[in-house]
Amino acid sequence: MTPSNGVAVLMYHSVADSATPEFADFVVEPDVFARQMTALAEAGCTTATMSDLVRARSEGRTLPAGTVVLTFDDGFLDFASTALPVLRSHGFTATLYVTTRYVGGRSLWLRPEGEADRPMIGWADLATVVDAGVEIGAHTDTHPQLDLVQPTVLARELTVPKVTLEDRLGVPVTSLAYPFGYASRRVRAMAAQLGYTNACIVSDLVSRSGDDPYAVPRVTVTGAHTGSQVVALSTATSTWQERRKADLRRAASRTLRTARLKKPESASYSRSLR
Ligand SMILES: [Zn+2]
Repeated sequence: MTPSNGVAVLMYHSVADSATPEFADFVVEPDVFARQMTALAEAGCTTATMSDLVRARSEGRTLPAGTVVLTFDDGFLDFASTALPVLRSHGFTATLYVTTRYVGGRSLWLRPEGEADRPMIGWADLATVVDAGVEIGAHTDTHPQLDLVQPTVLARELTVPKVTLEDRLGVPVTSLAYPFGYASRRVRAMAAQLGYTNACIVSDLVSRSGDDPYAVPRVTVTGAHTGSQVVALSTATSTWQERRKADLRRAASRTLRTARLKKPESASYSRSLR
């Protein structure tokens, strides 16, 4: 374990062969994903879920050296069909964040990225995912920018997925990923109030033990990452300068979005700010 008890929380979305240019950073090709996982396994890395990580920290424990947390946002069908068999072959677990409105349907919120037709995981496959020991987390109901919506909408977007997933799957849902990584003090407080124990943002920083459990940073893994680069993340730490820079970027992004200088749904634009 590194001196700061760092744990890399890796963020994936879709594992598939094709993507539009606007969405390409969020799609890793199956053979590349398989190589990344093989590299982690061969390096002796083990995996934990988000709730494992946050529970260990709340109890003052550290996870074994080389532990990484694998997270998958949105709930695409390819998690079950393509990613899960690879994870199982290595004995890896993960946290899958599901956007409940689109379960069994298509990725309609990705229309601005030209990706409205990506198949989403259905309830039967979600049950299989649960049986495989993967943690199910919430990714809101409709994938809005939570830091910009009204309080009633915020409460609904955080309540509906938790209740729906718990009812349909019979498992506790205590982990949350904010769509686009966007949150605010109000969003974090509401997540805690509604019974989530942790929530993820996107910062391209390695998480450490002192992190706010409602703002756990994640590193975006793309198809450009080699296996050894992914392994290197498992022992990496982030400096205070990198943390400060990430905070400033987030503040600048929110100011721009609040001023409506960007399309509300565009994740690719927010990435260009980083
Ligand atoms: Zn998302």
